[in-house]
Order: sequence, then structure tokens, then C-alpha cells
Amino acid sequence: MERAAIVRSLSCTSMACGRYLLSRSCRTSLSSSILFPSTPKPKLSLSPSPTVRHSLQRRRWRFAPSPYLSSRKHFSLLCPRAVASPSIPSSPSSSPSPEFPHVKDKVALELGFEKVSEEFIPECKSKAVLFRHRKTGAEVMSVSNHDENKVFGIVFRTPPKDSTGIPHILEHSVLCGSRKYPLKEPFVELLKGSLHTFLNAFTYPDRTCYPVASTNTKDFYNLVDVYLDAVFFPRCVEDFQTFQQEGWHFELNDPSEDITYKGVVFNEMKGVYSQPDNILGRISQQALYPDTTYGVDSGGDPQVIPKLTFEEFKEFHRKYYHPSNSRIWFYGDDDPNERLRILGEYLDMFDASSAPNESKIEPQKLFSKPVRIIEKYPASEGADLKKQHMVTLNWLLSDKPLDLETELALGFLDHLLLGTPASPLRKILLESGLGDAIVGGGVEDELLQPQFSIGLKGVSEQDIHKVEELVMTTLKKLANEGFDTDAVEASMNTIEFSLRENNTGSFPRGLSLMLRSIGKWIYDMNPFEPLKYEKPLQDLKSRLAKEGSKAVFSPLIEKFILNNPHRVTVEMQPDPEKAAHDEATEKEILQKVKAGMTKEDLEELSQATHDLRLKQETPDPPEALKTVPSLSLQDIPKEPIYVPIEVGDINGVKVLQHDLFTNDVFYTELVFDMSSLKQELLPLVPLFCQSLLEMGTKDLTFVQLNQLIGRKTGGISVYPFTSSVRGKDDPCSHMIVRGKAMAGRAEDLYDLINTIIQDVQFEDQQRFKQFVSQSRARMENRLRGSGHGIAAARMDAKLNTAGWMSEKMGGLSYLEFLRTLEERVDQDWVNISSSLEEIRKSVFSKQGCLINITADGKNLANTEKAVGKFVDLLPTRSPITTTNWSATLPLTNEAIVIPTQVNYVGKAANIYDSGYKLSGSAYVISKYISNTWLWDRVRVSGGAYGGFCDFDTHSGVFSFLSYRDPNLLKTLDVYDGTGDFLRELEMDNDTLTKAIIGTIGDVDSYQLPDAKGYSSMLRYLLGITEEERQRRREEILATSLKDFKEFVDAMEAVKDKGVTVAVASPEDVDAANKERFNFFQVKKAL
Ligand SMILES: [Zn+2]
Repeated sequence: MERAAIVRSLSCTSMACGRYLLSRSCRTSLSSSILFPSTPKPKLSLSPSPTVRHSLQRRRWRFAPSPYLSSRKHFSLLCPRAVASPSIPSSPSSSPSPEFPHVKDKVALELGFEKVSEEFIPECKSKAVLFRHRKTGAEVMSVSNHDENKVFGIVFRTPPKDSTGIPHILEHSVLCGSRKYPLKEPFVELLKGSLHTFLNAFTYPDRTCYPVASTNTKDFYNLVDVYLDAVFFPRCVEDFQTFQQEGWHFELNDPSEDITYKGVVFNEMKGVYSQPDNILGRISQQALYPDTTYGVDSGGDPQVIPKLTFEEFKEFHRKYYHPSNSRIWFYGDDDPNERLRILGEYLDMFDASSAPNESKIEPQKLFSKPVRIIEKYPASEGADLKKQHMVTLNWLLSDKPLDLETELALGFLDHLLLGTPASPLRKILLESGLGDAIVGGGVEDELLQPQFSIGLKGVSEQDIHKVEELVMTTLKKLANEGFDTDAVEASMNTIEFSLRENNTGSFPRGLSLMLRSIGKWIYDMNPFEPLKYEKPLQDLKSRLAKEGSKAVFSPLIEKFILNNPHRVTVEMQPDPEKAAHDEATEKEILQKVKAGMTKEDLEELSQATHDLRLKQETPDPPEALKTVPSLSLQDIPKEPIYVPIEVGDINGVKVLQHDLFTNDVFYTELVFDMSSLKQELLPLVPLFCQSLLEMGTKDLTFVQLNQLIGRKTGGISVYPFTSSVRGKDDPCSHMIVRGKAMAGRAEDLYDLINTIIQDVQFEDQQRFKQFVSQSRARMENRLRGSGHGIAAARMDAKLNTAGWMSEKMGGLSYLEFLRTLEERVDQDWVNISSSLEEIRKSVFSKQGCLINITADGKNLANTEKAVGKFVDLLPTRSPITTTNWSATLPLTNEAIVIPTQVNYVGKAANIYDSGYKLSGSAYVISKYISNTWLWDRVRVSGGAYGGFCDFDTHSGVFSFLSYRDPNLLKTLDVYDGTGDFLRELEMDNDTLTKAIIGTIGDVDSYQLPDAKGYSSMLRYLLGITEEERQRRREEILATSLKDFKEFVDAMEAVKDKGVTVAVASPEDVDAANKERFNFFQVKKAL
């Protein structure tokens, strides 16, 4: 498995985190991001990113989105310390509006639409037209521009009345076959065989979105058609078995056994309800809006889901999945006439309905006095519960939606309060020592009414009130005294930079805009307004200049927070008995159900269980599969995507330059060799990285340093990168300093980086201690939410040195290290501090440094002097002595035990060791195994939220992983059956072609310029040449059934020699160890 991806998956703490590994883009990056351009997300990797806050996880994704996504804010704070300089390509309104193809009124009318309004939107260089479908009233935003990454989305308002999870189950179910595409899961066929750059669906508390994206026009329209047919004519409303599979059902394999609950959403939500952060977010939301649709859980409460009937489910679809209740978005460089033509065909089949009235979201009336809620969450038995309480303060800010300028100002306030480690509210809370980590997402404006939430976790019971007081006094103080001028400037630049850079990572820009627009449009407000940030931004800037920041922000704090009685304080207490209690309650219900059944009922149920499984495991007939439109191999470019690279030398340091259009933004990576670092210092590396950015120098406090970064650059991050290198014993291990700025500020950027790596003082013991506790809390959270990442890292650590290193810096070993370090900081600070200094000395030097730059040609030339100056300032040292890395963990099967209701199960082996020789076909095969065998057995019939495999071509490690899995040994049996699956596999040409095209879709996944330059650098570091990329591509395109058959040996090697790691519940591990005598070595982790 590609190291960086593991590292990233381990470190992802963003709102999207939970399901990250399952995302398509992630699976891509796991297997092929290095070899091919895909989606490197080097975002702060292991170096903890304290600025990423846990939000309330409002959106429930079918798969997890990339962690880059943060479009929930009106400005996406993609880089926590991003900033702008005044030299930003300014006010886009000055540019003349370019001509885009448009729809003549007459043509629109013929197609059944009338134009409501149109505007050129300079902020996104797009012409946007709002149409209304005359017959049904469906609204369509048709956005035209030069972006080849086309986006379509259809959104329905779907407010639930209870917590049965109807919207969520429906979101899953409509993608399980439709009128034109009568197969089990067209969605999966699209995952397998299209060039999509985005394919997903998500459920909000009040709406359900179905977006797709592709750069290939033919592919794009194919995707649109499948989605439209799915939402309007799904088979699930006639097919009870789909409802059972995706929602819930009783499972009874044999009348003599116990009945259990099964269902994809049921299990997914069980996982969600095992995570304290999620529980806290849900309770806070429900308590803030007790009288509205937000007072229930659209995702579904596992205790309530089984109350849902098929009739209610069908009725919900009939009522809300109607054109009159929909909003449709098109974006990109395709022909807007074609968009209306495709839509007209579907929409014309309906008449207007009254759904828009029934789906209206009613606002919550404001409370007259604050409310306090105390709830329990499941904690481990026997764990130290003293410091495990959580508390948040939540405010509903207004009884109606706010205007954009106020919203922007609130967003600003949010950034000032919490946006960076130097932000006062964040800083004071963390420095108070009252808790381990921040909880609550700050200002949230994705729902009808905005809210503000803040609090701490890892708090002891007697300190709960102190946290509340601290929040209130800090806010009062800030309202009275105002903010530091430098802080305001830094926040302003940060926000402006990210608005203009508009770097959505691997997330399509058009989708980010769609979500922004929908955020208002869904409440019948103007869909154009949220796209136009320029005027409110300028207004706010001039108000700040004229009146000063205190006049702008103090009234906001007073009105919306301090004097606002609609405040809900939520306290969460750890309860070691809760998990067992919930489990027992469920068992009891199921026993009652069984007791109430006759012998015939039981036989019938057992028959139904078998029927469902049979249906799930029976492949779709070839005729059905053929209905899903696909491209042909002729549509696929024969060459890999080319990224320009110039390898040069500046003052003795190797420099890679990528001449790409970046709209005047300058991106750079400074790569330092980490191979001379002493082995025992490895676990300190993530904290070292954080210290560099958050400790301050002799002359600058860390607050000043942060503000400086904020004012002058687009952000700086530091993190380790390790990977195996194919054909070599030694791993590749580096520390990467990554930064961006407007090109005119490149020199400032390098100066600041130089300050960070050379002048930062490792002296602040108290801050360091905070870093340790925060990291420990984050790792514990990761263990619960991303156990598959922990399991994957652990297996890798058993199989190769790079994996071992990575695990030391981000896996279970790291967590263990942090736990002892927390105590050591008090006793042994001098030694720790000098170890940090030692890391600096062994890593940062001119020898072994490589510089990577991505910018436009003229900016590349203009900045060479600044690069030269930076290089000259780097310390030099005698020839590098390489440490001999050769460690691995013992090859035992391990169970990492945590309090959970669902497991994460992994098995892996190095298939190069058993003689496998790399061919591009491996990408096709492993993707195919994930999307067919594992999807069907681990997810569909096994009831796990996900199951997939991954092949790290650098190390040769092939691994299987499951996610939120109710099973343990049974899943291992599925993995072991992969060889037989391939052996018996029959495949027609169409299926094979789809598999190949889907793989190319991964390989060619869409990248913004900074990501292209970054991928190219990684290829350079890992020794992957253009010739090799071309050869792999040819091998992918030429993949045949024979290759699948030849892969059997590799799968047998994993079966026979593979090592297993599971992150699982104590009960399941006990049971497994009884069934297979002491199969697992048990490690209690939480
Ligand atoms: Zn789901």
C-alpha cells in the first residue's frame, strides 16, 4: 500500500474523515497515485493539523469525500494558514465576460423550459442561467465556462419526520437498479467502468444530493442518464429486498439460531453511533432544533431504523423524489442545449406536484432561556474514565437565514476565533489544560439557520463548568477588547487567498460551487448570490478599514452569542456499560421477536434470509449489464497525462520545475532526506513538525509567527513522507515542507520557511505537552473512526521497513508512544527538547535537499533568485551517514481491541516475495476484486459498510480491508476465497473493457496544477520514469482474462502467508479466539 496514502488516511481528521479510505479517489491514491497522476493529498499528513476541526458531520456520504473538502464554508479554508497578498489577481469583475455557448429562448421553450434569469459571474468566470421546467416547476442552474471537469447534480428536499433514516436508506436504495438500468447496482457498474472524476451521493439533514463529474463529455452524459433514471424510476420502490438489504431486515440463517438485524445503513449507523464525536454532534444538533426536522436524525438511529416500514419508504420516494421538489445543476464546458434536452425527456414525464410545500423547512423558534443536556456515550470497560468527559456550548444564531454579508462576517469571526492555532479562543481553550482537543465546528451555515458550537473533549467531570466559563469569559473579553490588527489582517488574507485560489483539491470545482449555491437555493433563495463573494468581501473590507475591526466584530459576538438565549450546553459522560447495555437491549428485542414467531414463521424467515443472500450473490445477467452505457477503448487516450518537468540545479541543490498555469499562485515543496535520523527519534517526528509551526522563535512568539505566515503566504505545512521503493531494500523517507503564496511573495515564503526550519526554538514545555495530549486524543479518535487505516498500517509495519516507520509515526505504536510521552514531558523535558533539536540537525541540510516548484513559466524564472538565496542559507554538513533501517514488527495475527459495535478486518502479504512480477494489469484486477467479489460478499451480503483490496506496487504488499464490519472470521474467509473467485471467473469482453476503463479513470483522475506538480515530484523520488508509466498504461489497456487467472497464485500467497490485523470489539475477538484456537494475539488499545 502506498505509504503516503496510509499516512494520510491515518491522519485525516477532517469532517470527512470516517470513510476516507473508501472513497474512490482514495482507493485510487492508495494504489496508483504515485505511478499515475491522481490525488496526492499531502495535507499536513502526520504532522497534526490542529486547525482542522471536527464538525458535526452534517453530510452523510455514500463514500467519504476527500479530506480536502471543506466547501461547507462559504470560503473553503483549504489551507488552514492560507493567506493572500494584496497582489492577488484582483477584482475579477474587471475582466470582460467571455462568450459561452448559450441556449436560445425559443429552443429552451421547445424543450419545455423557460429562462428565469441569467448572470455572468466573474468570481468563477462563468455564465449562469436559471431555467424553470414549465410543466413541473423543476429549477435548473446551467453554468457554462471553460472547465473541462463537468459536473451534474440533482438535489431533492427530503426533510425526515423521525429517525428511521428514510432519506439515507433511500439515498442508498435508488442507486440499486432502475427502469432503464435493471441491475443490482448500476452505481457500482459506473464505479467500475467510467471515467468519472466524482461519483457519489449524500444525505443531509434536510436534502439528498446526487452529483457526478467527468472530463469526458460522452461519459458525463452517460453518468447523468444513469443518475436521472435512478432517482425518478428506481426499482427499490417495488423491490422489498432492496429495502431490506440497504435498510434493515431480520436475519435468520437457521431456525435454531438467534435472529439478528442486518442492513447496510443499519450497520453504517451503528458505526457512526459508536463514535463519541459523532454522538456529540448529533445530540447538539437535535437539542438546538428540537421542534424542526433537524431534531431527528436523517441518517437513522440504529434503535429506530427497525421501525421503518416499506410502505413509509415508498411513500417518501413518491412524495419527495419528484421534479417539482428538485433542483438541478449543470456546470462545465459542454453544450447547454444538450443539458436541457436530456432533462426534458425525464421531466416531461411528470406533472406538477405539491411536494415543494410539504418539504418546506420550518425554522426553529429561538429559546427564551438556555438549555442543558447530559448524555452518556459508550466507553471501554476498565479504562480510566476520569478525563473522558466532553462538553460543547452551542448557539442557534438566528431565527431566520442571514444575509450574505452577515454570513461572511460571521465566517470571518469564526476564523478569527478558531481558524489557526494562534486564534485566541482556540489557543486559550487548549492552553487551559482543561481538555485534550477542541470539539464543535465553530460557525456552521449549511442548514437553514446558522449555528455556532465550541467545546472541549478529554475533560474531567469537575472541570466541565470551568470550560463553559472559559468560553464565555473569553468571548466577553474579545467583544470588549477586539482582535489584534495583525490577526485580522492574517484572517482577511487567508480567506481572500482561498477564495481566489479556489483550490478544491481532488473535489471538482463545479461541485464545490454547486454545494455553495444549493445551500441557499434549497431554501427558495437566490442560487446566484452565494457564488458572488466579491461585493460582500469588498464591503466587509472597507467597513473594517473605516470602522475598525472592533466595530464590526464586537456587535456580532454580543448579538449572536453572548446575548443570545438560544444556547444549548451538552455534556457527555463516558459510560463503560453503555455498549453492553445497548447490545443487550437489542438482543432482548430480537429474542422477543423470535419468541413471538411460530415454527412456520421462523422457517419462512430463514428462507427469506437465504433468498436474499442468493439474490445478492447472483451476478447480474449479461443483458442487464449491457444496459449501463460505457465508453469503448477507442475513447481512451493511449498516453498518460503529461506533466512538464525540468530538472535543474540552483546553487548546488536539485530543483524540479513544473511549468503549469496556476493563476499566479506559487507552489513549492522542500524535500529533506530523513534517512540519517536515529531510529528511536522517529515517533517524535510528527510532534517535531507541529513544533516547527507552533512554537515560535527567539524573536517571534508562535502567535506572531502564525500571523506572519497568514499575512504573507498561502500556508505552510510540514510532514514526513515514507514509502517503499520497488526493487530496493531501503525505504524512501523524507520530510516535506510545503508552502504556497502569490508569486510576488515567493521570497517571503522562502524566508518564512527558513525561519521555521532554522530558528524555531523547542523550549515551550507546556505547549509541547498540549501537542502530545491533542495528538493522543486524535489517535484515539482515529482508532475508533478509521480502524481500517490503523489495521492497514499495522500490517504494513509487519511486512516492510517503510511501513514500520510509518506506523511509528501514525499507527498504534505511535499512540503507545504518545501515552508514555505524556508522562515523560514533565520529568524529562530537557532530553525531549534536545531530541527535537537533534531531529532538526539530522534532517535539515543542503545535502539531500530537493526543491519542487509548480508555477507559470515566467514566475518560475522570476523566483530563481529567491530559491538561490534560500539554498545558500541552508546549513551544510558532512556527508550523510545513513541509518540502517531494517526493523519490522513480528508477523503475528493481531486483534486490536476497542469498544465498538463494528470491526475493521485486514489481511495482507507481500506478493513480490512469492514471485509476482508487476504488470499494469494488477491495477485492473485489484479494482475488479474490490468492486465485485469484496463488494458483494463483504458489503452486500456481509453487511459491512465497505470492503476493498489494495496493492502497493512499491512494496508489493497486497492487502484486504473491511470497514465497519459486523463480521470477523467470516470476512477473512471471503478474503481467502479470492483465489477461487478468480479461478472460476468468466468474463465477457464488455465487462473486461469496463474494468479497464474504470482503472484508467482512476489513473487519469482529475488534478489541479499543484497536485500535478506534486505527483510528478513523488514519481521522481520513487524513481518512476515516463517510460514506465507508458508501459504500465499499455499493460492496463491490454489486460486480458489470462492476467486474472495468473493472479490466482498471488492471491493464494496472501491466503497462505498473509498476516491478519483486526480492530475489533472484545466480544468478537473472544469468539474468534474460541473458534480458531488463539488465532489472534490480543492487544487492548482503548
Ligand atoms: Zn450511507
